[in-house]
Amino acid sequence: MIYIKTDEEIELQRLSSLLVGSTLAEVAKNIKPGVKTIELDRIAEEFIRDHGAVPGFKGYGGFPATLCISVNDAVVHGIPDERELKDGDIVSIDCGTVLNGFYGDSAYTFPVGEVDKEILLLLERTKQSLYLGIEQAEAGKRVHDIGYAIQNYVEGFGYSVVRDLVGHGVGKNLHEDPEVPNYGRRGTGAKLRPGMCIAIEPMINLGGKEVFQENDGWTIRTVDGKPSAHFEHDVAIRNGKADILSSFEEIEKVLNKK
Ligand code: MG
Ligand code: MG
Repeated sequence: MIYIKTDEEIELQRLSSLLVGSTLAEVAKNIKPGVKTIELDRIAEEFIRDHGAVPGFKGYGGFPATLCISVNDAVVHGIPDERELKDGDIVSIDCGTVLNGFYGDSAYTFPVGEVDKEILLLLERTKQSLYLGIEQAEAGKRVHDIGYAIQNYVEGFGYSVVRDLVGHGVGKNLHEDPEVPNYGRRGTGAKLRPGMCIAIEPMINLGGKEVFQENDGWTIRTVDGKPSAHFEHDVAIRNGKADILSSFEEIEKVLNKK
């Protein structure tokens, strides 16, 4: 079932989505070689609770942490642990919050120290693909117009789109209808209507599209061991331009200072 939200509900959703961006910015300040991923998780949980919200992922389906932290060939759903980030790593951090009864859900992939140019380009282009997908997210278009725009752009660089995981409606539940794949045929899928809120989240691999789930029951990795990037925004559908509810602004302020 697809929920159509009132403007009031969308504003409540926005506060939750913006808190995710602020949380990721706080985490970004601490991303450096030598930091343990469990430490980043602790920072995020404290920040979210200090702002009167609750971590959205902790306990969701049994997930044990506040953040999904996925390093290098891990695509998504990595569990924070004692692992230290190293110079040259990339780290995808996905964060969820519940505030005012609404879920925020947003993700960003960060470089750690000096990262190979080829991999920095993967990050840049994956983020760009997210915005190209968002451009399609307006009333009257179809869900797969979003995936088509993402796929068409990234495949032009020889990258591949993960098929096993997709974006989704977001609101009072973390995952609502419709599914929002990052690939697809133009002009197909559910019609986008004003008041729908969706999370668009391209997961783009430098190599092949195949992924597998690790024995921990969570972490998704690329089969070929090549890196993968993930960026995610929550978006409200409007007549005309999409309304991006989450924000990377604070995150990028932190990154630009580094
Ligand atoms: Mg997410
Ligand atoms: Mg999501």
